[in-house]
Order: sequence, then C-alpha cells, then structure tokens
Amino acid sequence: MPTPSAAIVVTGGAGFIGVNFVRKLLAVRDVDVINVDKLTYAGHLASLADLAPNPRHHFVRGDIGDANLWRQLFARHRPAAIVNFAAESHVDRSIAGPDVFIETNIVGVHTLLREARDYHASLEGAARNAFRVVHVSTDEVYGSLRSGEAPFDEMTRYAPNSPYSASKAAADHLVRAYFHTYGLPVVTTHCSNNYGPYQYPEKLVPLMICHALAGRALPIYGDGLQVRDWIHVEDHCEALLAILCDASPGETYNIGANAERNNLEVVSAVCALLDELVPHSAHIPHRRLLRHVADRAGHDRRCAIDARKLRDVLGWAPRWSFDEGLRRTVEWYLANRQWSEEVLRLNAGRG
Ligand code: NAD
Repeated sequence: MPTPSAAIVVTGGAGFIGVNFVRKLLAVRDVDVINVDKLTYAGHLASLADLAPNPRHHFVRGDIGDANLWRQLFARHRPAAIVNFAAESHVDRSIAGPDVFIETNIVGVHTLLREARDYHASLEGAARNAFRVVHVSTDEVYGSLRSGEAPFDEMTRYAPNSPYSASKAAADHLVRAYFHTYGLPVVTTHCSNNYGPYQYPEKLVPLMICHALAGRALPIYGDGLQVRDWIHVEDHCEALLAILCDASPGETYNIGANAERNNLEVVSAVCALLDELVPHSAHIPHRRLLRHVADRAGHDRRCAIDARKLRDVLGWAPRWSFDEGLRRTVEWYLANRQWSEEVLRLNAGRG
C-alpha cells in the first residue's frame, strides 16, 4: 500500500466518480494526487475548481492511451499506485458510436498496463512490493439477471450485452492477463450503479432532476422495470480506498449496497423529493412529466451485486441508505444548479 506522502495517479479524476474519489483521497491520506483526465464531454474542471488551492492536487490534461505521457508521469512523480477511472461510460453513447469505447476502454487501458508494467519492473524493494494498479470496472460485464436469480459475485461468468460493457470486459481480461503473465500487481473492482454529486446530467438520476426542474418530459425506457443495485458514490469511493490500501494483487472485488430498485421507483422517488423540496415549482406533481419511450437495445433487465467478499475480507460496509443518499443527491443538485447548467452549456458549445 502507498506510503504517506507518496503520489497516487488517478485517471478520469474530472469525471463523476473520479472527482468524488480525488476529494476523498486528499481528505483522508497525506498523498499527492496526480489527476490525469482527457476532459471529454464527461470531464469538467468546474468539478475540481475548489481544489485549485490544494498543493497536493495536480491536474494533468492527458489521454490514458498516450505512452509518452505515462513515461513522463512515472519519471516525474514515481507514483505508488494508479487508480483507473478513465473510460467512456455511457451505454447509450456506446450504442450510437462504439469506436471511442474500444479506443479508450480497451486500447487506452492496454497502454496504461504496458507502461505500468515497465515502471513496476524498474522499482525495487518496498516500492515494488507496495505498487498497485486498481482498475475500476463495472457490474455490467456480468450481463443481466432474471428475477429471483442470485446477485453477481466474483465468480459470475462474464456476459456483457452492450458495446460499453463488452469494452470494459475486454479491459478486465487484459488486466487479469497482465497479473498472470507479467506479475503486475492489479486489483479489479465491479461496482453497481452509482448516484451522487457531480454526475453528468445524462445518467438517470441527474437527468431526471434537471428535466423535472425545467418542466421537461422524464423519459422512461420501455416499461421502466429494469432493476439496478444503487450505491451512493461516497460508499463506492470508501470501498475503493479500502481496496487500494489492503487488497492483494490479482484479486477482484464486487461493490454494491443492497439497494435494488427499478427505474420507475427511482424516478418516482426523485419526483417525490422535488415535490417536497421545491414546493413552489410550477411542475408539481413532477411525476406527471413521466413519458415511456422505446426501450434501449440490449437493455440489461436486472443487475445486482453480492458484496460479501468485500465485507468479509476487507471489512467494508456501505454507510448510505438509498433513501438518505437520494435525498442528499437531490439537495446537492438543487444547491448546485449552476454546475449542471455550466457543464451542459460547455458541451452544447462543443457542438
Ligand atoms: P464519467 O464518464 O463521469 O467520467 C469518465 C472520465 O474519464 C471523464 O472525466 C473523462 O474526461 C475521462 N476520460 C475519458 N476518456 C479518457 C482518456 N482516454 N484518457 C483520460 N481520461 C479520459 O464516468 P464515471 O461514471 O465517473 O465512471 C468512472 C469509472 O467507473 C468508469 O471506468 C466506469 O466504467 C466505472 N463505473 C461507473 C459506474 C457508474 O455508475 N457511474 C458504475 C460502475 C463502474
């Protein structure tokens, strides 16, 4: 595990989960964070603005597929670990245009692994033993569960159904191969659906909040009964910290908070919170804005996580209930409307 005052490279640290993880890491560890992000439509410096005065946060605009960048970062910072969040992450975008998912999620991850392997080989003694690459994958690599079927555990076979999940699955196989072939000390995680602050308003929860506040239709795919296992992003970040500190190389961990909800339930809960928290809205009851639209192609029906290994081996447990976490999330979006408006405006400007 990284020693105090070491540097840790976090990739994708201007995106939703990365921003939350960088904050947590800076708050609880005396480390320098080298935050490497390409700043695609999903990465926003606005989410990091308040970290500017922090001398331990170093932002580097760059692509995980750039081998030269990795060589420079390793030479300059001698990092003790890499936590890889960088990815194209939106299933709908992967259906409309899969190429960039292959480029970043597979080819980019391979470049990261190859350069990390060479860097790791150059380390000696304690630094070599402590080095880790934590690769943040997704539960979507496991595909879809039937109602009543046991949740995904670490032994569930891969069955990805979208170009997004297939690209993440391919990367996971490369990560595994780099452990078995080259001894690169990697750990892979599979987390369920996150919600919380700084999530770009194209994913379910923030999309619904932003549309509802504007009185726009709330689009529900198909019958809306697709089930996801929801976790507050802070719980995910705490699980990743535990894994970064204590997991053994070559391990995989599933991360989830036992909160299965279908999309209709989630959107209804968001609407009810908005009815309560924005009592003078012209759109009450917000639920009236719901509109069923054609289902997403290849849409997983149900995802659920068995996180017992993480609890039993590393002692992690989620702290947020879904109801409390969702309330806090809606409150955050209400208090930070400028953030949503700014990131949407910037992307509209990109054409
Ligand atoms: P996000 O789309 O909000 O952020 C991704 C970040 O990666 C952005 O800041 C983007 O600019 C950056 N990026 C994209 N391509 C890059 C490249 N080539 N080089 C450097 N940076 C690049 O995604 P997120 O929701 O924060 O997800 C982070 C990771 O967690 C992803 O790997 C995703 O697969 C995984 N994950 C997400 C969830 C979820 O519910 N959001 C659940 C499980 C796992």
